[in-house]
Amino acid sequence: MPPHEIDGADNPLLLRLRERIRRDGPLPVSDYMQVCVGDPEHGYWRRRDTIGAAGDFVTAPEISQIFGELIGLWCAVTWQQLGSPAPLRLIELGPGRGTLMRDALRAARRMPGFIEAATVHLVEISEPLRRVQQATLASVSGQPAVTWHRDIAEVPDGPAIIVANEFLDALPIRQLVHAAGAWHERVVALDAAGALMFAHGDRVDQPADVPREPQPGAIIELRDGEDHLLAQLATRSQPFVALFIDYGPASTAVGDTLQAVRRHEYADPLAEPGTADLTAHVLFAALADKARAAGLAADGPITQAEFLGRLGIAERATRLMAANPGKAAEIEAGVQRLMAPTGMGQLFKVLAVWSPALPPPAPFG
Ligand code: SAH
Repeated sequence: MPPHEIDGADNPLLLRLRERIRRDGPLPVSDYMQVCVGDPEHGYWRRRDTIGAAGDFVTAPEISQIFGELIGLWCAVTWQQLGSPAPLRLIELGPGRGTLMRDALRAARRMPGFIEAATVHLVEISEPLRRVQQATLASVSGQPAVTWHRDIAEVPDGPAIIVANEFLDALPIRQLVHAAGAWHERVVALDAAGALMFAHGDRVDQPADVPREPQPGAIIELRDGEDHLLAQLATRSQPFVALFIDYGPASTAVGDTLQAVRRHEYADPLAEPGTADLTAHVLFAALADKARAAGLAADGPITQAEFLGRLGIAERATRLMAANPGKAAEIEAGVQRLMAPTGMGQLFKVLAVWSPALPPPAPFG
């Protein structure tokens, strides 16, 4: 590691973390992630231009307007299935640049009554991204009222449709590592030179549903953020339908999925804290099980390609290309990227979670 990274002179968050670890001891991985993304001065979500070609990572709504439009049409149909309630809480978790919501509202307005019924609730912790979202949504004419919240618990009651693209992966996770016959909290500590390193922390009780005799050094992950979210959903007294779109395996996997991405490349999660997007894969089978255990209904995951295919992406792309012949190649390239069998189309999955009294939302069930 180059000396400047070790002395941390050009990374204020590294200096702060080092002080904290010297004072209070090593940090659980979840606290480390929380500091890296959420530090009020130097955390990753203090940055404005993180998403998009000029940022660190590109998301589906930034690749093609059709992504948000199909979700908007899905919202309109789902609203009808709910009995066309007014007001409808249209909630997006982690809306990024606001692109998905903008495209969704533009498409959903074709459903008579939908825009009039909807109040938009954006759950977002990043102040700079809130400002971007506000600017993006200002371009939607006749838009419904928009309110920002820090947590879904703050969103008023009422029938709700919830959309989350690449939100769950951003929530801090705990990691446990197996050593000397027991599970230990995986922590971030300092090596002799003062650089960050992973280490084994306190011993923890054997978690449920986890092998008793795994490979030495095995790592498992616990997702407290997801548990909090599911608990919040379970307490909503009015019906809701939620769509979670993210990357991760369909079935349960054991292992370390913590990753850092900076400027479209994988990076070392411990290098230059606060300057990379830190995420973990979503384990969809486990998420669906937890939703059911919380008394909710869940179906999926299906792949993003299957989901968008069933919502009619091919037809919509054909129509958009016919209406914009000059942009046909760009539109086609975007759709192919969203659907790629060796890329986003397969790696990204969609899980629906809803109030058990409702029928399954389209295109599930
Ligand atoms: N959905 C967007 C952005 C994905 S990036 C898109 O598809 O382009 C993750 C988003 O979640 C960002 O907007 C980030 O600021 C937000 N976020 C991360 N952790 C959060 C938390 N704990 N609560 C609310 N928003 C959060």
